[in-house]
Amino acid sequence: MHNFDYQNPTRILFGQGEIANIGNCIPQGSKVLVLYGGGSIKANGVYQQVADALSGYQWFEHGGISPNPKYEELMGAVDKVKAEGIDFLLAVGGGSVADGTKFVAAAALFEGEEPWDILAKQAPVTRALPLGTILTLPATGSEANGNSVVTRGEDKLAFNSPLVYPQFSVLDPTTTYTLPARQVANGVVDAFVHVMEQYLTYPVNAPIQDRFAESLLLTLIEEGPKALADVGKPAETQNYDVRANIMWAATLALNTLIGKGVPQDWATHMIGHELTATLGLDHAQTLAIVLPNLMQAQKATKGAKMLQYAERVWGISDGDDDARIEAAIAKTRDFFERMQVKTRIRDYGHGGEVVDTLVAQLERHGMVKLGEHGDIDLARSRQILEAAL
Ligand code: NAP
Ligand code: FE
Repeated sequence: MHNFDYQNPTRILFGQGEIANIGNCIPQGSKVLVLYGGGSIKANGVYQQVADALSGYQWFEHGGISPNPKYEELMGAVDKVKAEGIDFLLAVGGGSVADGTKFVAAAALFEGEEPWDILAKQAPVTRALPLGTILTLPATGSEANGNSVVTRGEDKLAFNSPLVYPQFSVLDPTTTYTLPARQVANGVVDAFVHVMEQYLTYPVNAPIQDRFAESLLLTLIEEGPKALADVGKPAETQNYDVRANIMWAATLALNTLIGKGVPQDWATHMIGHELTATLGLDHAQTLAIVLPNLMQAQKATKGAKMLQYAERVWGISDGDDDARIEAAIAKTRDFFERMQVKTRIRDYGHGGEVVDTLVAQLERHGMVKLGEHGDIDLARSRQILEAAL
């Protein structure tokens, strides 16, 4: 196992009814800005729960943060923070609202020229407003990490800072009952791929980390289809524990714990971001397109972990090494398809004409040495994308 430095400062309030307790986590007297998306929280009653919980605070709101949050709409929130003298940010929604709020937290106190530099030039974040999240979509792990992804035009870029970890996050599984099938599926696939990117590299004698990762993969494989089957049912007939296990699995997938002491490969996410920025696909759709083909292209260097994955996650024991690896890749693709997330670029109405653009975008963004060995260069990314058509 490699050396590591691990600290996760996010306090988690988990379970039904926990939104009512956020007053224990936000300093009394704070001026709070509540940030949210396109209105799902108003339709499902979460907004009202938040309003009730904030009754002792002076608070303001900023709605309209879109999926894959946009720089301009977040800068609108920065203006509000400055105009009202906000000192605490509360994100209520999915990963896009959480990511966007982290950017607002850093941008509001940014001392450089333009806050976009935090993303485009990786300008250091030296101060940030404190924030909390109320998560309504288990997927990204943003509720317990320091990552944020923001889009401006065709640039979908990420930054990371210990200063934007949420101080607390509320995970109430009942808030996820209203998710449409597409978002339940997206969430399970995103969390699954987060685990894979910290697991499917090469062995470093870290069986504890491998076992954490495998338990998360197995949980998502077992519980994901059950949540999908419950979509649209009334709250009384929903399976709380299915939602609870998925929600906690998604947090554990990217609260950085399982990635400590092991190599990581974020190539699927980096190539996926270009697919979202260029073609407008959902984040998880892009991951379902890229991962099976990346596994195929990187068989030689990921072989040992692929065989372990085949055996421990999918119970594959027949055939020679290559046959078992191929079967594991097929199982992975099949799982995404069973979750109703399509795995080919053509399934989303695009063809080979997009590959040149995507490769050019990767080059423009400096994504030229991806993967745990830095060997996913532009030629390899092209090969992955062509195989994904
Ligand atoms: P999202 O973009 O936050 O939300 C997707 C949709 O789900 C929105 O239309 C939202 O509607 C709706 N929704 C959310 N909660 C709902 C609920 N309880 N009931 C009904 N509808 C609900 O989705 P996400 O997958 O969580 O976030 C994706 C973003 O996170 C991408 O930009 C991705 O790149 C990023 N990401 C970040 C990390 C990280 O570590 N920070 C990791 C992976 C991905 P409303 O807008 O109306 O609320
Ligand atoms: Fe993701």
